[in-house]
Amino acid sequence: MEILRSQAKSSGPTVTPTIPLYRSAPALEVRLEDFELFAIDRLRVLKGISDGLSRGKKPDEMEKLVRDLWKANMKHPISSEVTNKDIISHFVLRLVYCRTEELRKWFLSIETTLFRYRFQLETSDVQRALMAEFELPYKAVGNVEYEGLKDKLSQVARSIGQSLPSGNAVFYKVPFQEVPELVATRRVYIQKGHAYVAMNQVVSLVVTQFRSHLSKALVLTNRKWTSMIREKESDRLTPIVEALATSYLGPDYSQPKQFAEISLKDIDQVAKSSFPLCMRHLFEKLREDHHLKHGGRMQLGLFLKGVGLPLDDALVFWKSEFSRKVGTERFDKEYAYGIRHNYGKEGKRVDYTPYSCQKIISSTPGVGDHHGCPYRHFSEENLRAALGKMGVSSRALEDVIDKARNKHYQLACTLTFEAVHNSSCDAGVNHPNQYFSDSQSILKAKGNPVA
Ligand code: SF4
Repeated sequence: MEILRSQAKSSGPTVTPTIPLYRSAPALEVRLEDFELFAIDRLRVLKGISDGLSRGKKPDEMEKLVRDLWKANMKHPISSEVTNKDIISHFVLRLVYCRTEELRKWFLSIETTLFRYRFQLETSDVQRALMAEFELPYKAVGNVEYEGLKDKLSQVARSIGQSLPSGNAVFYKVPFQEVPELVATRRVYIQKGHAYVAMNQVVSLVVTQFRSHLSKALVLTNRKWTSMIREKESDRLTPIVEALATSYLGPDYSQPKQFAEISLKDIDQVAKSSFPLCMRHLFEKLREDHHLKHGGRMQLGLFLKGVGLPLDDALVFWKSEFSRKVGTERFDKEYAYGIRHNYGKEGKRVDYTPYSCQKIISSTPGVGDHHGCPYRHFSEENLRAALGKMGVSSRALEDVIDKARNKHYQLACTLTFEAVHNSSCDAGVNHPNQYFSDSQSILKAKGNPVA
């Protein structure tokens, strides 16, 4: 499938840049399968960066994070294909993230951050080649001019606690009004309306350029995508693009893998020690009201299947609660079918997969429903109370509330996990069953798994 049209023309750099500028789409044939797989790999990088930023990582930690994420996800078995994977994945995600203002904002911000760190990690030769590719109207200062200005440039460098790099230092001549930040902080030498910007400060110019280009491109892509949909040209792509926007990137939890079955006698204790807040809340409501509406039964029922509750025990468990409210006969008639259905024993006999955080967070619980993600769907007051009940200390609690307020729901859940287990969770919480299995691993290592 041709998704990309013509590659940006190069203005003859001596080094081939390893970071594409994604200015226009080159003609590449892409298999539908790669279309999706490449995009998922890039999404892992972008989500990792987004998490790192929300956790307030410092620039040097971010640099390492970006390097590790890129290495882990963007390699390709054929090394010459690495650049193609980079370009294809970027353009596919443009399609996915061009569709609303909120999606565009997120993609623009994280792709720009990715670009910034990749640029910084490059050698100065590659950086210069990229500058040339951008065709920025800035001139590198020639040797003769540099020699004449060397003393002044040294003075500025010293005043900001730096020294001029040895050898042929590279400076760019930029109209001073284009670098107001550098001028305001007196980080550049100014002469005749030009600021002399050192290579190590040039990154902000390049990044600004990248951001502005991508921002315009996303708006254009959105227009094209909207007209494609209207003309029904996107039948094959629409389902993939829509699924990518909410895709879950972690392992499959449809079958319990790591742990033995949980037994009914332990279930209350396990719920307290290892269930994430969304499941803990459903579990407590079920114990309290002896009933859950459909959304709650699905969310909790599939989670319990994923943590290893066998079908027979699940039937006993749900019946013991529901029968107190609706009687055993009505339970057998109206509710037992749904439980067997979740385990693939009725209807189409599909072995249904437990819900991911993404799916739970994007659900819309109505009045009387208890499913959903508490970090998103609880009021702040209720969330505070629930976290207090979980034993989250007051300092950690403020951090969690802050993340939830800023819509970083999974990060809020990750911080809760870290607070109650007194252990880090670098991968972040992406799935309630992952929360459970990570919790059990920690408890096991401490010598007290409950299940
Ligand atoms: S972030 Fe995920 S695991 Fe945590 S409460 Fe929300 S849905 Fe559940």
